[in-house]
Amino acid sequence: MKDRLTVHPDDCAAFAIAGRVPTVVASPKSFEQAAAALQACAREGARVVIRGQGTKSAQPPAPAALDVVVDVSSVAKSIYIRADDLTAVASSSVRIADLRAALTAKERFFPCDVPFAADATVGGALAAGSNGALAARFGGLRDNILGMRVALSDGSRAFAGSHVVKSVAGFDSHKLFIGSRGTLGFIGEAVLKLAPIPPDERALVARFADPQNACAAALDVAAAPVFPYAVTLHCPRSAQRIAALTALTRPDEWLAVYRFGGLRRAVGRAVETVRQTCAQHGCSATDVLDRGGVERAWVDIAELAGGRMYPATGWCAYRIACLPSEVPSVLAAAAAAWPALEISAHPTMGVVFAHVPADVAVDAPGLWRSVGAAAGSAICTSAPPGRTDFAMPPRSYAPYALFRRLKSEFDASGTLDPGRMLGAV
Ligand SMILES: Cc1cc2nc3c(=O)[nH]c(=O)nc-3n(C[C@H](O)[C@H](O)[C@H](O)COP(=O)(O)OP(=O)(O)OC[C@H]3O[C@@H](n4cnc5c(N)ncnc54)[C@H](O)[C@@H]3O)c2cc1C
Repeated sequence: MKDRLTVHPDDCAAFAIAGRVPTVVASPKSFEQAAAALQACAREGARVVIRGQGTKSAQPPAPAALDVVVDVSSVAKSIYIRADDLTAVASSSVRIADLRAALTAKERFFPCDVPFAADATVGGALAAGSNGALAARFGGLRDNILGMRVALSDGSRAFAGSHVVKSVAGFDSHKLFIGSRGTLGFIGEAVLKLAPIPPDERALVARFADPQNACAAALDVAAAPVFPYAVTLHCPRSAQRIAALTALTRPDEWLAVYRFGGLRRAVGRAVETVRQTCAQHGCSATDVLDRGGVERAWVDIAELAGGRMYPATGWCAYRIACLPSEVPSVLAAAAAAWPALEISAHPTMGVVFAHVPADVAVDAPGLWRSVGAAAGSAICTSAPPGRTDFAMPPRSYAPYALFRRLKSEFDASGTLDPGRMLGAV
């Protein structure tokens, strides 16, 4: 196999996945070569992990077996923007940062605030499938991916979905690949739904002594016709990591950040309405960021959601999903379980990101028990290589039988990273 594929025989250690080193790294240059590589691996019974830039390689569990890494980074990169139709087609090897720059030049943006944005690829971001805070206004990835070109391990290639915003025909089977973690097939390119860059953007930063009050204010705002682009909440320690907000942080105060976009007057009215709502819930002070401030702050805010701020060598990261009304209980339970914790949340979406220093003893089942009553699901999104004590026991009601049937339909040979999806699928 080494003779037939472009390989990096000396660089295998650099492509380790959760501490496991492959014996072959294949670097296809095109979608067709990637499909052929998967088919060849399946024929020879090799176990394959598809890799974008590897920013999520530390997500447990480690692969039970790993022969080949199919490295997507050399696949030809293309971005085709149809600005007037608010769509774009991007190959999976394109970095999110490059996609962003190309869209900005056309006054468009893809409404996703991705951690690891400087490095992460479009394919990896979709396969990793967690939504950022902008999902509060724009919907999640499943709402913003119109179509996808994929290759399966049996060598078959397909396009699913459509190239247009309005589409009513067929199964949306491409959406299965969002969050599939590379276990169903290779994402070659994706059709993205875009949004216009708004004429004005601002953010209201509100300081609260008590996260419960901050959550109550966020829910009140969500129930009013105000429509922020995003709302994030940060404990005093994580707030201090947002360089653009250093002057606004206090050691004992939580920061709620409301991001707005739209026409200037509408943004001004929304900021004022939210300021009043926060004041009614006991916020101690507010500040307003202009567009430049929002952009600078958001670079760090996106990385606080399980991203670059918490490297897997030093931190263990959890993503806990719950009802928005349960966020205060989850925050309290997590803080009680791990006092050294750093925590961020998307309070109106019911997502909590908990980061525990790697040298702190972790009782993951204990955390699960304490937050479990309030939480719908929780996963460990990264952990130091070789550590197994961080694993979060999966909920027993997850539809694993259905997962297994899907896996066997898309990847009958079990070539693609078997055992790494929830429920060891
Ligand atoms: C809108 C949005 C919001 C996000 N929000 C969050 C968040 O809040 N928190 C968070 O932790 N992460 C979030 N992410 C995911 C985050 O951006 C990922 O860290 C990153 O995008 C992974 O990119 P990568 O190229 O480094 O992938 P890698 O780490 O290389 O791969 C990630 C996974 O995808 C698979 N994969 C990679 N490329 C392909 C491909 N071409 N075809 C099939 N499978 C592939 C890999 O096998 C692996 O399982 C978000 C992503 C998006 C798009």
